[in-house]
Amino acid sequence: MDYEAFFTEALDELKGEGRYRIFAELERRAGSYPRARRHGVDGPDEVTVWCSNDYLGMGQHPKVLDAIHDTLDRCGAGAGGTRNIAGTTHQHVCLERELADLHGKESALLFTSGYVSNWAALGTLGARIPNLVILSDAGNHASMIEGIRHSRAERQVFAHNDWRDLDRRLAALPKDQPKLVAFESVYSMDGDIAPIAEILDVCEAHGAMSYIDEVHAVGLYGQRGGGIAEREGLMDRITVIEGTLGKAFGVLGGYIAASAALCDFVRSFSSGFIFTTALPPALAAGAAASIRHLKESAVERQGQQDRVATVRARLKAVGIPVMDNDSHIIPVMVGNPMHCKQISDWLLEEYGIYVQPINYPTVPRGTERLRITPSPVHTAEDVDRLVEALSEIWSRCALSRVAVAA
Ligand SMILES: *Cc1c(COP(=O)(O)O)cnc(C)c1O
Repeated sequence: MDYEAFFTEALDELKGEGRYRIFAELERRAGSYPRARRHGVDGPDEVTVWCSNDYLGMGQHPKVLDAIHDTLDRCGAGAGGTRNIAGTTHQHVCLERELADLHGKESALLFTSGYVSNWAALGTLGARIPNLVILSDAGNHASMIEGIRHSRAERQVFAHNDWRDLDRRLAALPKDQPKLVAFESVYSMDGDIAPIAEILDVCEAHGAMSYIDEVHAVGLYGQRGGGIAEREGLMDRITVIEGTLGKAFGVLGGYIAASAALCDFVRSFSSGFIFTTALPPALAAGAAASIRHLKESAVERQGQQDRVATVRARLKAVGIPVMDNDSHIIPVMVGNPMHCKQISDWLLEEYGIYVQPINYPTVPRGTERLRITPSPVHTAEDVDRLVEALSEIWSRCALSRVAVAA
């Protein structure tokens, strides 16, 4: 086989469909984020980032940076081992306590990323609980899908956010078969929010465990940043809450929060937990500082929500087609992968505005979009520039606008 030709052909196919991924090479500027320097290209090299998951700007927060600097200087760079062999540091243990407290659970278990936490926790539960059937929302993230697949447990996919479909499926299963329902709170690409209370009612009626991915909600919703389940007073009814430390908390890592026995079970049986080097202690300390800050401060959450409302209203006022939802995610619908990439290129090259195009397979074909994530660190002038740029581009391409209500 001509291996090189095979690789090249596969890539050409992606390019032909307009979904070959090109990464922007950025150098984030701590202290002036969302500003970043863009490397290796013509055009403006200072860009404003409008598509980051550092939703609150915590990646440059002084308390987070101080905690990282301090721990780095005192403890050094790496953890030095897996959690089992020399890698469990004081910072990891403190962070797990902080997370258990955030979600009102007995325990929490840290992983090296949110992806790994979903993959490892679902993989372990699915593989180790005899005869478990996992019911998975049709919109679930790749990390959950891969974890479930890896577990080889029986799997059913229920219609997105459709608790009636879930109810029917659970009712049709043998009463004594163990069941787990896996879903998200805020879905990252449409920004829609699950009917958590209804899903939990159905789980409880059928004796199923519930597993919620709150990756796009932790830090952002609830009195102390515990997520949508905290906001709705539902955390104690959920079996497993999964989250990330890499998005609103601004650092890196993933976790589950659950009962002491469940966390100990995953800790003891999960290959993805056991056989990998622990997070650097400095990052654990930085994440803990971020969580502690957001438990007490609502300024960042409020600032973000205000900014989101403004951007949404301003885009709608000029007829840019924005998908409605109740979250902080603003999908601007384009519906064609080539157009989506072209608009993103123009924004970057002509306006210094960075919004990555989102194409298949991240979203279904025909729903290609720009995913805009306003944060409290975007200024009023940043918003003006974004709206003007998109409006000009929409005119230039004679892209269809939504009729603006008088
Ligand atoms: C980003 C994401 C993850 C993975 O979290 P990381 O910490 O980035 O690995 C898990 N679930 C959802 C829904 C996500 O969007």
